[in-house]
Amino acid sequence: MPSATMKALRKPRPAPGAQVESVPIPEIGASDVLVRVRAASICGTDLHIYHWDRWSASRLRPPLTFGHEFCGVVEKIGADVTGVAPGDFVSAEMHIADGVCRPCRVGQAHLCRNVKIIGIDADGCFAEFVRIPAQNIWKVDPSIPEHYAAILDPLGNAVHTVLSGPISGQSVAVTGAGPIGLMAINVARACGATPIFALEVNPRRRELAKTMGADEVIDPAAVDPVKRVREATDGEGVDVLLEMSGNESAIQQGFEMLRPGGRASLLGITSQPVEFDLVADIIFKGATVYGIYGRKMFETWVQMTELLKSGKLNLDPLFNERMPLESFSDAFSLLEKGQAGKILFYPNGVPA
Ligand code: NAD
Ligand code: ZN
Repeated sequence: MPSATMKALRKPRPAPGAQVESVPIPEIGASDVLVRVRAASICGTDLHIYHWDRWSASRLRPPLTFGHEFCGVVEKIGADVTGVAPGDFVSAEMHIADGVCRPCRVGQAHLCRNVKIIGIDADGCFAEFVRIPAQNIWKVDPSIPEHYAAILDPLGNAVHTVLSGPISGQSVAVTGAGPIGLMAINVARACGATPIFALEVNPRRRELAKTMGADEVIDPAAVDPVKRVREATDGEGVDVLLEMSGNESAIQQGFEMLRPGGRASLLGITSQPVEFDLVADIIFKGATVYGIYGRKMFETWVQMTELLKSGKLNLDPLFNERMPLESFSDAFSLLEKGQAGKILFYPNGVPA
């Protein structure tokens, strides 16, 4: 049995920074599962929480353990839990839907009106243990390696975006090759998209975009990306835009390079409202536009599992540092400089 306290990376008060603290191991209710965290990955959102930006200040109520991308082993289950047992290797959907609002009732739980996010609204996984409602637990197929299991949350964002419309045999532009854009490139490739163009301003990420399967990587600061993509597609433009940057000019360029009748799936989050030519880019273009939020529960998880089992995804180039929780300030500063891919914390000890 675990001792009564555990280590956790906490936001102790509503201010910039974080702290590793000793806190009680979460108590679980009858329908909860306690998971011993094996690996937890850092998301861009965690960086916002660390720096305490406007969004964090409006949303979070410290003290809070943050972190929402992880895998681990079930330690203990509540009295009413079935289908999950101690020793199971698991990850989890960290968006908890209420199951009763209108979107939930019509099968769109990822758009729940009353969603609570573990790691944002409740204690998260940057800790030795995390409490998860049993219905949110995802048993990980044994063929999926541990480091992949730790990033199913953002991989799910990528899979949800890529598979929100036809993809096989489609030409694709991915705007923004951060971790999720890079995964989207790899998923689109595995699903038969061709050719794939990636737009990215960061040189290290441009290199990774190539490694992850982009046919052509464009630096929008060096060449006119719209002109280049049109040239490379016989003047047509691409069938599909996957917007993964949240940057205003990338969004504008992405829509400009979308062919008439094309599909745009938008995941990137802008920091403020952006200017946009609705008539030229959507109406006269007859574009189909999808806003993408989270992962479909649990369709995306099923699709992602099958893609991983097929062995067609290679996400290894994304990973670099493995760190103990105590190295959080190094981890956040590496991420901030855009020098890292996915950094993994090992709250229960970094493997040799
Ligand atoms: P990230 O910030 O690491 O990646 C964004 C990338 O876009 C960076 O590599 C950046 O260099 C690049 N970029 C910036 N300006 C650009 C430009 N003008 N042209 C081309 N590239 C440009 O973020 P991430 O973790 O990969 O996530 C991608 C986006 O998705 C972010 O905006 C994030 O907030 C958002 N997100 C949305 C959801 C959702 O449910 N909708 C979930 C997770 C993340
Ligand atoms: Zn709901």
